[in-house]
Amino acid sequence: QADTAMYRAKESGRNGISFYRPSMQETADRRLTLEKEIRQALKQRQFLLHYQAQVDHLGKVVSAEALIRWQHPEKGMVSPAEFIPIAEDTQLILPIGEWVMREACRQIKVWDAQNLPIHHVAVNVSSRQFRQADFVDQVKRILVDAELPAERLVIELTEGCVISDIDDTVEKMRDLQTLGVKTSIDDFGIGYSSLSYLKKLPISQLKIDQSFVRDIASDPNDAVIVETIINMAKNLGLHVIAEGVETQEQLIFLRNKGCLSYQGYYTGRPVSAARFELEDRLLPTA
Ligand code: C2E
Ligand code: MG
Ligand code: MG
Ligand code: MG
Repeated sequence: QADTAMYRAKESGRNGISFYRPSMQETADRRLTLEKEIRQALKQRQFLLHYQAQVDHLGKVVSAEALIRWQHPEKGMVSPAEFIPIAEDTQLILPIGEWVMREACRQIKVWDAQNLPIHHVAVNVSSRQFRQADFVDQVKRILVDAELPAERLVIELTEGCVISDIDDTVEKMRDLQTLGVKTSIDDFGIGYSSLSYLKKLPISQLKIDQSFVRDIASDPNDAVIVETIINMAKNLGLHVIAEGVETQEQLIFLRNKGCLSYQGYYTGRPVSAARFELEDRLLPTA
């Protein structure tokens, strides 16, 4: 989307319209502008978190994933798919990532005060943030500052992040485990990596990537992959959650195969904290 937006229509004689790739200069300019805007967004508090319900097999909302949103003064809501990669390239992901974690912890306290039964909130952590030498200390500090028990926070990491420096990952995950913070492997299954890391690491949860869930009912290959992930997770003693669940059919398939946690448009879109509080606590599971 970011890319197609940069393709500009251009008259080209008798053939009418053609497209050209933005020059490297244009791309660089655009990134620089975005970088400046992200810096400003941090100062001017233009970021906010939306929350998407994570539902158990009874339809109960048990937890939520925090998803960052950028309320840009002119452009409106900017997708994280557009600005997170730039933030990752520029170190800006570090203050953003810290803000996300602090804000999610603050929100849990607010929900506790309202007696909203949310066990934990999962936050996405970028590779660059996770690789910081003081990452675990930062998590610890944020939990202490928020006066929150560690089990209320879950950290989502992608497979790519986890395997990019397995020794460092082992050390950090052990420290997180000691602290009591659980980890979940986001977008699981699309990493094309050896699975041997799964037995080396104290991971709590696998999150089945939405690309497998999408065609689960029509594509036998996807169905087999999903079933295999579910069984593997079970045998390894890991919790498994499916993301991108959009239909009743998908949910029933997953449940029949033994996956008992779901996240997706079918059980709830990502919404503001205020909306999340108002949503029904019991959602359809069939
Ligand atoms: P993700 O962590 O895999 O999050 C799931 C994405 O799928 C979210 O997109 C969510 O809105 C979307 N989604 C949820 N249910 C459905 C569904 O049923 N169907 C479909 N088609 N999509 C669904 P979103 O919010 O645009 O975020 C995109 C990605 O941006 C996230 O993927 C994550 O990698 C990244 N991201 C979001 N928030 C943060 C953050 O706070 N920090 C970092 N580092 N990355 C973030
Ligand atoms: Mg995620
Ligand atoms: Mg995901
Ligand atoms: Mg993703």
